[in-house]
Amino acid sequence: MVHSHACDHDHDAHGLTADALARGLTAAAARCEAAGQRMTPPRRRVLEMLLRAGQPVKAYDLIAAFGEDGAPAKPPTVYRALDFLSKQGLAHRIESLNAFIACGGGGGGGGGEGHAAAFLICDCCGATREIAPSGVSEIERLAGAQGFNLTSLMVEAHGLCQDCRS
Ligand SMILES: [Zn+2]
Ligand SMILES: [Zn+2]
Ligand SMILES: [Zn+2]
Repeated sequence: MVHSHACDHDHDAHGLTADALARGLTAAAARCEAAGQRMTPPRRRVLEMLLRAGQPVKAYDLIAAFGEDGAPAKPPTVYRALDFLSKQGLAHRIESLNAFIACGGGGGGGGGEGHAAAFLICDCCGATREIAPSGVSEIERLAGAQGFNLTSLMVEAHGLCQDCRS
């Protein structure tokens, strides 16, 4: 975890229920299959950890917590899985935190391969929410008008979440 709720503010619970977690993993596997990709056990495990966390997680924390039995992963296993999940639009790299988060489905068109994504990142507690502002499609439109082929677009907005403002 980037911040582990070290702040003194009250927070709603993050992360998913077991049901929602299972649904998320099933939907992700189905999406991979539809794209002709395989949800291998390491990819599934990394996605499971990201979904469980419900907020950005550093790669080295994923590596350390990888084994169900407590054993760390070989770093390339986790990095390759993160690379795959990011390409499939199932996870996003938050550059400003150097961390990864499971896709919140808020990107343009409700997720999908390489979709543009925007994030609201709380600088106090670290809570991070994916949103789908209409401004993203405006940037895509302007890029297209320049004959520019947009391959990725990330907006990382920093500030204070509702819980930390109150
Ligand atoms: Zn997304
Ligand atoms: Zn906060
Ligand atoms: Zn706070």
